[in-house]
Amino acid sequence: MEKRKDREYYTELVREHNAVAAARAGRQLVGYIRTFGCQQNLSDSEKLKGMLFEMGYAISEEQEGADIIIFNTCAVREHAEDRALGNLTALKAAKTQNEDVIIGLVGCMVQQPHIADKIRARYPYVDLVVGTHAIPRLPELIWTKLTRGGRLTDIDETSDPDLGEDLPTRRDGDLKAWVPIMYGCDNFCSFCVVPLVRGRERSRQPQNIIDEIAGLVTDGYKDITLLGQNVNSYGKTLEPPMNFPALLRELERIPGEFRVRFMTSHPKDCTHELIDVIAASDKICNHIHLPVQCGSDRILAAMNRGYTAREYLSLIDYARAKIPGVAFTSDIIVGFPGEKEEDFTATLELVERVGYHSLFTFLYSRREGTKSAELEDSLTHEEKVARLERLLELQKGIGRAKFEEMVGRTLCVLTEGPGKTAPGRLTGRSEHNVIVDFKGDDGLVGSFVDVKITQALQWALIGDTTTKID
Ligand code: SAH
Ligand code: SF4
Repeated sequence: MEKRKDREYYTELVREHNAVAAARAGRQLVGYIRTFGCQQNLSDSEKLKGMLFEMGYAISEEQEGADIIIFNTCAVREHAEDRALGNLTALKAAKTQNEDVIIGLVGCMVQQPHIADKIRARYPYVDLVVGTHAIPRLPELIWTKLTRGGRLTDIDETSDPDLGEDLPTRRDGDLKAWVPIMYGCDNFCSFCVVPLVRGRERSRQPQNIIDEIAGLVTDGYKDITLLGQNVNSYGKTLEPPMNFPALLRELERIPGEFRVRFMTSHPKDCTHELIDVIAASDKICNHIHLPVQCGSDRILAAMNRGYTAREYLSLIDYARAKIPGVAFTSDIIVGFPGEKEEDFTATLELVERVGYHSLFTFLYSRREGTKSAELEDSLTHEEKVARLERLLELQKGIGRAKFEEMVGRTLCVLTEGPGKTAPGRLTGRSEHNVIVDFKGDDGLVGSFVDVKITQALQWALIGDTTTKID
């Protein structure tokens, strides 16, 4: 409560300050946020936008001319950090043009002390460095910057004990919404920096989640994605404890026409109970994103994933038996330290055996502070890329075959907007999150429709007849 009062207090101070500045400039002040990384970051950015808006900034899609520029950063792979740092150079020019512009780096990348130090030392034009835990303190940090000047850093892990529960949100879409149900991660997979930058696992109170989703449904949202690093361990930290299937059963009871997705589901904690709840549900999509990372038990153990390939496959088999037409997607890391040819072949075999609709594939990236950073990176970049290409080639055929299987079927599609293939066509997504392009009139946008699939392309399905579902 104290934190909330602080936020409101500083928001009001910045708003008054900005009103004066706007009157002087003859225009409203503008805020710009650029997001790197995952869905959790997209969700955090919606809150950053909500806070900026309350402080009197108009939210722009353009960096050019903004009075406050924030990069919400990612640390999962080195590539994401390089992109954020590379783009910082353009911000230097923005500062040269207008010395009053406030430049902020927020999120996972700067939560790492060695990066926060680097920013302080090498990027003098960055005004605010705000770690993941300090996001709710943005109004106070901006106020301090406006009134006292200087550069401010907050990467204190104790900044956000109330999970930012009361933060305002400015959502990017009006049909699809992200809803975090938990923050942080306790798994410590050996390659992963997330537990270091997002802290220990904390679950939101179920009633807060239910109220948020009920409000979204009333506002016309139809596709809700529950977010968490390991949604299957939702509720363990609550008093009294609650599990993820129980939360899903509660969400199912919310009246209205909407569907629910979730990510990410960790195979180690994915139970038959969860699969049974999906099977019995009308609202939960028949799509499970179940990152396997690798098909070799030796490497899975070195990754500290907590399951074997066999256990993973038995989950897949159980879900296939219980949920007709279920689609699986996955994440795979290629080139983990010590990955031998036979380990990689085991991954290819597993990918073939499961038959994923699509895959998110990554080259192993060494992350400072993680367990696997101590292991010798055994493959050259070229060797990793060559393996990745073999995996992509295999998946291309599998994905195509999965899409072909859908030809002739009628899929429930949420219509998102005009299609790209020709006038008079619409685009939307099936419950498997596959893009569907189909014939229909604009009045269907925002509705669920039944679409008969006539053709499969590499990345999308083509459909013809449509019936609105009332
Ligand atoms: N909590 C999720 C994953 C979050 S990170 C889960 O456990 O499934 C998203 C994906 O990034 C991971 O699934 C993994 O495939 C990839 N990833 C994470 N750390 C990585 C690293 N150091 N190098 C390469 N890929 C990585
Ligand atoms: Fe990272 Fe593993 Fe946690 Fe996912 S479950 S966020 S991969 S440590």
